[in-house]
This record gives sequence, C-alpha cells and structure tokens, in this order.
Amino acid sequence: MLRIAIQKSGRLFDDSVALLRDAGITFGSSPNRLRSPATNFPLEIIFLRDDDIPEYVEGGVVDAGIVGENVLLEKRKTVQVLDRLGFGACRMSIALPKTTPYAGVQDLKNLRIATSYRVILEDFLQQKNIHAEVHEISGAVELTPSLGLADAIFDIVSTGSTLLSNGLREVETVLRSEALLIAGPVLSAEKQDVLDRLLFRMQANRNAKGHRYILLNAPNDRLDEIVRLLPGMKSPTVLPLVTPGWCSLHSVVREEVFWDVLEQLKAAGAQGILVAPIERMIL
Ligand code: ATP
Ligand code: ZN
Repeated sequence: MLRIAIQKSGRLFDDSVALLRDAGITFGSSPNRLRSPATNFPLEIIFLRDDDIPEYVEGGVVDAGIVGENVLLEKRKTVQVLDRLGFGACRMSIALPKTTPYAGVQDLKNLRIATSYRVILEDFLQQKNIHAEVHEISGAVELTPSLGLADAIFDIVSTGSTLLSNGLREVETVLRSEALLIAGPVLSAEKQDVLDRLLFRMQANRNAKGHRYILLNAPNDRLDEIVRLLPGMKSPTVLPLVTPGWCSLHSVVREEVFWDVLEQLKAAGAQGILVAPIERMIL
C-alpha cells in the first residue's frame, strides 16, 4: 500500500484528484475527509495543506505527494522529483511600485522586500550577489508597499492583475513553477512497484493527450511520401482498399504538429482523412 498526499483544498486539489482518477483509481474526495483508501488500487490518499507535504514526504509519513515546485524549493526538503505534472503553473516574481525606477537587479540593493517565500528569495539574491532586507510575512504581501512596510515584494504571479491593482509592476521573474510528483528518498520494493504502476498509467494518459489517431486513404503511387509524413509509433499500418491503386493508412500524429501534417497530407493526395482522439497510449 502506497500513501500519497495531495492538497486538501486549494488550487492543486481538482487537478490532483483528476490525475489519480484518470489513472483509473477510484476514491472518495469529500471536503471533510483527511484520508481516503482507493477501492481498486493499493493506494491511500491523504489530504494535507500543501505546505506540509514536502516534510511529510521526506520524513516518510507519506510515501509520495503532489506539490508545487515553489513550495518544495521553499521547504528545502530532500525528496525525489518523479514527474512534472503540467498543472498549477505559476511564476514567482519581484515587483516594485510603478513609480520606483528600475534598471536591473542592482536596483534591489538594500531594499526591504516582503515575501512568504524567504528561502527562494534569499537564494536568488545571493546568486546575484545583492544585499537586501528580506521581510517574511504570511499573507497579503502585495499590500505591504502601499502601507509603507516594504519597498518591494516577492510573490506568486499568475496574470499580474493583482499586482496591477496594487500599483506594482513585475521586474524580475525568479522561478517558473508547476505541480510535481515527489516521493521519499527510499521506498520499499513493494511501494516502488505501486509507484511505477501509477507512473506508467499517468504516462499512458499523457502520451494519449499529446497524440491523435489518424486514418486516411492514399493513392499507392504517393504512399512513400505520405508515410514519410506519418512515421507513427513504429511505422503506419497500410491496408489495400477494394478500389485498385488505393490503400488505407492508419497512424498516430503528434498534437503540436497535427494541423501542419494534415495540410501536407492533403497536398500529397490523401483523401477521406479521419482524426480521432486517443484514450490511452503505451509506447
Ligand atoms: P493551503 O491551504 O494548502 O496551504 P495555499 O493557500 O498555500 O493552500 P493555493 O493558493 O491553493 O495554496 O496554491 C497552491 C499552489 O498552487 C501554489 O503553491 C502554487 O504552486 C500553485 N499556483 C498556481 N497558480 C497560482 C496562483 N495564481 N496563486 C497562487 N498559487 C498558485
Ligand atoms: Zn499553502
């Protein structure tokens, strides 16, 4: 049985639950639950504040967890990062009042910077060899310059509208973060096996989302050209059509290039092109 911690409520909750459910794992996730055993997989889901997850994973209270990279870096815990999950994306930036001139990091020298992420900020300042006064506060960081408590802030930014409405502008992006799957430094063979099965399922879903299934009819004399456009997983399947001189071709195409490939296929004489989503894909 593997124990995995996810955020109890907040920005990572829905995507974390969806990630496990898409991997075919069934469990209850009602808001007042603290833990929930999966009914069809050797997994127990523990619901925690995101800030506690790195420590619980490092200490072995739970075996794995889903947490933002920003929180992991701030907590400085020793864990394995197994996967980047593609959700919970945000950036962490330094912002100044709009009226404060800024030409480069040197201008941060000796400023009072308010943040809830002291460790990440201090690492950044040290790396840039800048001395500044870091004020750690637990919330409403963006209000501190207008209250005269700080000259600058370091905080999470998603659209920048909160900064704007507080008269601030982003001057340095320090970190780009997303949700991570983390695990303890040492796991038993049995737990590692459950984790590998989970990773395999997640990978199959991700591959499927990144590809489309494609079927088309091709004139035999243009087949080589069309096959070159559709390399597929190994190579495409080609079946003869009843109509002489034609065949049917089945393959997969990567999502990012799918429209380009479609145009090239059409230009190469392909007809009756069908494109379908793929539910799971194992390479
Ligand atoms: P908890 O109660 O679990 O401590 P929280 O208030 O600290 O929750 P949330 O605001 O739910 O945390 O954010 C969780 C994570 O979501 C952040 O640590 C970050 O990795 C990510 N995230 C993505 N976009 C944003 C955003 N716009 N603001 C804050 N966090 C974001
Ligand atoms: Zn938190």
